[in-house]
Amino acid sequence: MSFITDALLSVWNVFKSIRIADIIDILILSFLIYHGIKLIRETRAQQLVKGILLLIAFYLISVFLNLQTMRYLLKLCFQWGFLAIIILFQPELRRILEKMGTSNITHLAIFNANDDEQQIHRIMNCIDSVCEAAQDLSSTCTGALIIFERRTKLGEQIATGTVLNCSPSAAVFGNIFFPNTPLHDGAVIIRDGMILAAGCFLPKPQKEELIAKQLGSRHRAAIGMSENSDAIVVVISEETGTISVAENGELTRGYNRESLKKMLVNKILPEKQEEPEKDSSLAGRVISKWKK
Ligand code: ATP
Ligand code: MG
Repeated sequence: MSFITDALLSVWNVFKSIRIADIIDILILSFLIYHGIKLIRETRAQQLVKGILLLIAFYLISVFLNLQTMRYLLKLCFQWGFLAIIILFQPELRRILEKMGTSNITHLAIFNANDDEQQIHRIMNCIDSVCEAAQDLSSTCTGALIIFERRTKLGEQIATGTVLNCSPSAAVFGNIFFPNTPLHDGAVIIRDGMILAAGCFLPKPQKEELIAKQLGSRHRAAIGMSENSDAIVVVISEETGTISVAENGELTRGYNRESLKKMLVNKILPEKQEEPEKDSSLAGRVISKWKK
């Protein structure tokens, strides 16, 4: 009986010694661990964490059993491993930091600062032009890759192409992707409703072996780009005329002009703008009209 009382007393003493700072400490740590796991899930870094945990387990065993050589080698591994991890997992670490930096709060703040009537009209006209072009290119089986940049800036890909900075229209897209013209290879990148660049080279997907064999390099590049950023990538197949869209590493196929427009309007315009303000500014009205 006295054993149970002692145990309860020691538990009570532990609780008594907890300060508010300790609770804050635990909450912050739980938050960081939870988001850390969420960020590395489904990436190569997941295997890396498993490997590190295994090495730590070996190290503890070697300390416990006093295995000198093993302990020495593992110590060396930990000392140099940190540098090796940064070099080997540079793309993953970069993506994780990018994801951390693109929270919804920063996105809305950026958009609200610029959401004037002109910009919204430009984005809407652009979506319309892309949908019209997609239909035309699909009917003539002309291959195309069109990227809508969102929060992640695509400066690296833009640098591989030719900067155009021109207004989008179905005719311009038709010209860019016309076979054997200088810019037809590669992707068009759209920023804020303008064609920023064409002929851009996109990154490869991470797990090429998991992608369906019938998808060639154009569709793979679209998947790769959507894995590396939050961009929406529209692909038109040269072989079949199929219109597909890649987002977050997933490719959805079989769009037509209407379904593409509906999807793009929902994805490109921020959710917050769906409901018009009470005094009904022009921006609110325009977007709700487009979202119908
Ligand atoms: P399609 O159905 O149109 O044939 P696909 O997925 O079978 O597409 P390919 O036939 O290999 O792909 O398409 C090759 C074209 O895709 C290239 O000429 C180029 O325009 C484009 N492309 C391929 N890889 C990339 C890349 N990494 N970045 C940009 N464009 C690319
Ligand atoms: Mg092909």
